[in-house]
Amino acid sequence: MELLSTTETATLIDPAGKPAEQLIEHRTDPLTRQVASINLALGEKARVFLGVADLPLLEELQEKSRATCPFCSAAEKGTRFEPSFAPEGQLRFGGALAMPNLFSKCARDSVVILDVGNHVLFPSRIGAPALANGIRAAVELVRRSRAADPGAVHHLAGMNFLPPGGSSVPHPHFQVHVRGLPYSGVARLLDASAAWKARTGRDYWTELVETERAAGLRWLGSDGPVEWLAAFAPAHQREVWGLVPGVGSLVELDDAGVEGLAAGLARVLSYYEEVGAHPFTLAFLSSPAPGRGGEYALQVRACSRPPLKPLYVNYETWFGPMFGGDEVHTEAPEAYAARLRARW
Ligand SMILES: [Zn+2]
Repeated sequence: MELLSTTETATLIDPAGKPAEQLIEHRTDPLTRQVASINLALGEKARVFLGVADLPLLEELQEKSRATCPFCSAAEKGTRFEPSFAPEGQLRFGGALAMPNLFSKCARDSVVILDVGNHVLFPSRIGAPALANGIRAAVELVRRSRAADPGAVHHLAGMNFLPPGGSSVPHPHFQVHVRGLPYSGVARLLDASAAWKARTGRDYWTELVETERAAGLRWLGSDGPVEWLAAFAPAHQREVWGLVPGVGSLVELDDAGVEGLAAGLARVLSYYEEVGAHPFTLAFLSSPAPGRGGEYALQVRACSRPPLKPLYVNYETWFGPMFGGDEVHTEAPEAYAARLRARW
């Protein structure tokens, strides 16, 4: 496997009239050919543009949002699954609670509150046990959806955290989407992985782990069967992948895999907090069909988002379009076209 990288130099005359140069490195993802460009000179601009986390605001938001939080009172006031899907109404895994999303993006759209009793807005306070219970709930939702409707096999589970991370309700929660249509980003990844296997005879993800372990520069460590690395050509900021080689789908994930994903995610999210990027977005990219573990690896991808500060909102960049490839809209194109047309 070749990790391809080239450099270019940008030259300009700066405002003081002096010639200036910047070095830009372009990296190409070996599987998808997606390019990531790195210019270290941009770091200072980003710090000025994005600002730093407003920690008193975060503490205040944590306390104020608790009083009216719909997820703190979900057991009493939340939605319920229909009895044919879940006779118990809501699913419980330890402190985690799963219920239907009040506003659905697909046929089976669920919210998984990671720990009903733990309303926290600091990533390090979420904890691996709550993440593990959330993953268990996601796995169960995907399995039940499939059992209830054999066509409902395509799924995307993810998490947006804090408004800059694409979240509307601050209490830590996953969303688990199941539908009859593929998620385009997941489908592209599965197709590319199958093509790699056909071309080379090897599982791309096993080879990637071997390559990154040997290089050592981006490999982070392992938690049980889960291998963690920083993406070579990241599509998002501080993008980290947790891979489960040999397992293709959430429906095939065993408890060691659940625990490994949760343990590593807790490390990654605490790191994001440490560098001042409390908001984050993550998604589990999972094969709709079981038995693909020889050519595709179930994986979670996480990235940090801009620091929380006043007047920041970020609805459009949540885990669906960022990692799953597909966006959800609140208005049909025909509706805004009908209003816009008047300008012609
Ligand atoms: Zn809450």
